[in-house]
Amino acid sequence: MNILKFGGTSVGTVESLINVRDIVESLPSDTVVVVSALGGLTDKLIATARIAADGGDWMSEAAAIAERHYNIINALVRDERKSHTLEVVDSLLGELRRTYQGVSLIGDLPSKTLDVIVSLGERMSAPIVAGIIKNARLHNSLDFIKTEKWFDKSIADAALTHDLIVKEFSDIATGPHVTGGFISQDRDTGEITNLGRGGSDYTAALIAAALNADMLDIWTDVDGFMTADPRLIKDAQVLPEMSFIESMELCTFGAKVIYPPTIYPVFHKNIPIRILNTFNPKAPGTLISDHSDCNEYPVKGVTAIRNTCLVRLTGKFTENVAQINTRAYNVLARNGISVFLLAQPGENHEFSFAISSSDRMRTSQVLNEEFAPELIDGDLRGISFHENLSTIAVVGEGLKHLKGLNGRIINTLMRSGITAHAYSDGNSDITSSFVVEEKDTVGAIKAIHGLFF
Ligand code: ADP
Ligand code: ASP
Ligand code: MG
Repeated sequence: MNILKFGGTSVGTVESLINVRDIVESLPSDTVVVVSALGGLTDKLIATARIAADGGDWMSEAAAIAERHYNIINALVRDERKSHTLEVVDSLLGELRRTYQGVSLIGDLPSKTLDVIVSLGERMSAPIVAGIIKNARLHNSLDFIKTEKWFDKSIADAALTHDLIVKEFSDIATGPHVTGGFISQDRDTGEITNLGRGGSDYTAALIAAALNADMLDIWTDVDGFMTADPRLIKDAQVLPEMSFIESMELCTFGAKVIYPPTIYPVFHKNIPIRILNTFNPKAPGTLISDHSDCNEYPVKGVTAIRNTCLVRLTGKFTENVAQINTRAYNVLARNGISVFLLAQPGENHEFSFAISSSDRMRTSQVLNEEFAPELIDGDLRGISFHENLSTIAVVGEGLKHLKGLNGRIINTLMRSGITAHAYSDGNSDITSSFVVEEKDTVGAIKAIHGLFF
């Protein structure tokens, strides 16, 4: 049994939806199809919500959203499902208009209201896609993808979600089954939540893992996982295969092709992922499994996370620097702040690590509390923050066999006039990362990509 996920571009137009239909109809009936909102719609829903909150003309935007959905229904939904699908989507569009109206009246956009607004993308696309595919059965993902609160985020309650998915799809042979990705429901309050932008991949992975699927197919708009973002690097190459760990590292470090939390549930069950192109279904794509070809491709890719902030702690530490380091790391982890690069120079009076700029304020607060005694004693002289940076990552299981890699990369960057403010030293076997000025992001990716590919 395969789980298929079609992203926004795959369900964005009449032409692309014809491809989706043909792909799904050629498969056995025990297939589960997870769909995103129509391409670009989530952005549009958010932008329109902001227009409404600012007292602008949200009505014409809402009318355009409605028309786009009606056009697709009229062009593609099967005759016997058309009136029902129109009724369902009509009612959801009514909910959307009423919500925008409310936002416009109060002149404010609470995050819970925005969650309801963005959920409408997948709540509309799923019945439409189900209406296009022969014999498809529609499932409401709010019934089985449940979240819990974790700091200010909603995260999947994996155990509850697993059990609900097993129940929901107990007669799997009677499909194909269609459901919306991304959206979820808080297990305690019943409020609509979501799994984060790009989260439809994760919905598909949760379903694949719970149902012990043979394969998770992520259908998108490129021929596979590539050695770099093809929008930035024109000669990026499609990789025939990579390991789960490599894909996890690449996505964590910014490769947008898969939403990072997606990989863990299927990796855990050893369910391979394929990245396939809806617009070129015959292309072999990329197979992500527990195997990786390290001979032909020791390095699998170069990626970047923008909005990096480098935090530097300096002092005359009485404890050894590794202990201070671990304390900083642990206290940030306990507060839900992820550290994605740890650079520790040889000397004993400073170390730095990278965080997302959005975590800067909280990081400052947490570290000042944790190290208050050292700050008072003067053992810790200061905590500084350097912003407007990017973290560039080079990933591959073959990296560990490449001698003098960091030196080669730093030299390559230098020849392009780019300074690495920090680099990782050995906290991962398969990833080397470098912090550069944000304005140098593309130049750094190009230079490093040129070195390996
Ligand atoms: P979808 O709407 O199907 O979920 P996304 O836009 O989320 O699609 O992801 C696919 C896009 O990711 C591609 O169009 C490509 O521009 C971008 N991308 C970034 N890095 C990579 C990479 N290393 N390999 C392939 N695509 C990448
Ligand atoms: N529609 C959502 C987004 O644009 C989820 C997804 O496409 O995966 O982020
Ligand atoms: Mg995506």
